[in-house]
Amino acid sequence: MNKKPFEIARETLKQLTARKLAPTPANYQSVYSEVAGVPTLPPFPADRLREIAQALPAKTPGQQRHRALLESAVGQMNWDGVKSALLAYAGFTPPAGPPDAAMALAPAAAVGSAALVPGVAAPSAISAPALTAEFFEQIARLLDYARPALGSDDERFNQQTQEVLKMLRQPGADAVVVKRLLADFGHRLSFAAEEQVEVRAGLLKLLHLIFENIGELSLEDQWLKGQIESLKVASLPPLTLRRLDEVERLLRDVIFKQAEAKGRELQAHEEMRQMLAAFVARLSQMTESTSTFHSKLDESARLIEQAKSLTDVAPVLKEVVGATRSMAQDTLSARDELRGMREKALTTEAEIAKLHQELDRVSIQARHDSLTGALNRKGLDEALVRELSVLRRKETPLCMALLDIDNFKKINDQLGHQSGDAALVHLATVAREVMRPQDTLARYGGEEFVLLLPDTALDKGVEAMTRLQRELTKRFFMSGAEKVLITFSAGVAQVAADETGPDAIKRADQAMYLAKRAGKNRVLAA
Ligand code: GH3
Ligand code: MG
Ligand code: MG
Repeated sequence: MNKKPFEIARETLKQLTARKLAPTPANYQSVYSEVAGVPTLPPFPADRLREIAQALPAKTPGQQRHRALLESAVGQMNWDGVKSALLAYAGFTPPAGPPDAAMALAPAAAVGSAALVPGVAAPSAISAPALTAEFFEQIARLLDYARPALGSDDERFNQQTQEVLKMLRQPGADAVVVKRLLADFGHRLSFAAEEQVEVRAGLLKLLHLIFENIGELSLEDQWLKGQIESLKVASLPPLTLRRLDEVERLLRDVIFKQAEAKGRELQAHEEMRQMLAAFVARLSQMTESTSTFHSKLDESARLIEQAKSLTDVAPVLKEVVGATRSMAQDTLSARDELRGMREKALTTEAEIAKLHQELDRVSIQARHDSLTGALNRKGLDEALVRELSVLRRKETPLCMALLDIDNFKKINDQLGHQSGDAALVHLATVAREVMRPQDTLARYGGEEFVLLLPDTALDKGVEAMTRLQRELTKRFFMSGAEKVLITFSAGVAQVAADETGPDAIKRADQAMYLAKRAGKNRVLAA
């Protein structure tokens, strides 16, 4: 038999009186349930919940809004509202759409109010449209952030992005329409993202090809060969900003130094050419004057033969003496000139030889970092091959340490980039002085160095790095008059028998990372 609500309420009040129970909300509810024949629900702990709501921080507008929603749900004894508000407060988006009606049923808690009758749904405490709009705005913002990474060449894609953004930001946007639009858009987005990945890979390949070809073109130039090798290594994937930076720097170096060296060589060649031309001109001039002299002598000889008296001979002799003198003078000056030219040619030749030597020296530099003089990546690779072959042959231990200066960005920011550079040089200098001559120092990246410690077991490797660390605390880096303490974090790995160099560096890098995590300024074994 189904009783009407007012009959249940009347019967409940009757029972309360008959049983001499105080008309508290809890008693009322328990008797009400009994009369209605429904299971007894625990009372709604409105006060405790309100206390919790009031204890929640409400610093941001979002927190304030969600706390207000919670309070309102508590006021309405709406369990579902409480749940949604708490989820929203904690950052979980509640499901869109109206809450489940069954969940919204709340038992009465106070006698005599219309809302007390169980079975009457309380209105939802959460404003679903507001949450949906917020959610849509978050998606829109996500798209805004991702857009630059996807390029702007595909007109259709741009248009579609605009449409989706507009729809997401439209007040009262329909969730079903948005969902469909997002599904379409997601499909196209996956193509756009894939294309960007391919474009990057393609660009890298192209760059690599260019470097290879420049290398082919200038085979005889040792310096260029060195630089091109470094460029090829630097242009290998993965593409990172640091890598690109390195490629740009190397390329600038190549272009600048090549132009400079070639310019000087061209100038030297031009000087040689001019001297040769002058020499030939002088030579023909000389033969010319010699033949004039000869014909003059012939003529004089004939005149002398025909001469009848000494008076006739005198002018001829005068002529001969004059011609001979001028011939002798010519020869003398020609000889001086030629000697001068030869000396100049020799100096020019020496200059060209020096230029070539310089280029060779620069080629060696391509294995060294120009700032610190430590080996660069290419130099390190070569040194590694050497040390690894010793390790395999002699089975002596080899340690590899990777150090990264602590808070280097701060040094740059506070003292300027130039001081940062000088700090790097300082560290390299101290490292070279502290380490043994057979140890190798290489600049691995911006403020990261790798040390190869041959014939060194792990504990000794850690000791060596700790020694360097101590030495740096004694020898401050001076930035002007300011004493700056440089510290570093380092990882040390002993290369295993079957391990590659890069793998060992990776292990050292991981240990270095742990040293950073553990608070920096320390050396950890890998
Ligand atoms: P951490 O202790 O975690 O290593 O912090 P950090 O600041 O040292 O590390 P982060 O990698 O954030 O910064 C490294 C900085 O080194 C950033 C970059 O500008 C700087 N840097 C890299 N190469 C050079 C260089 O050749 N000269 C100078 N002056 N600074 C460089
Ligand atoms: Mg670093
Ligand atoms: Mg650092």
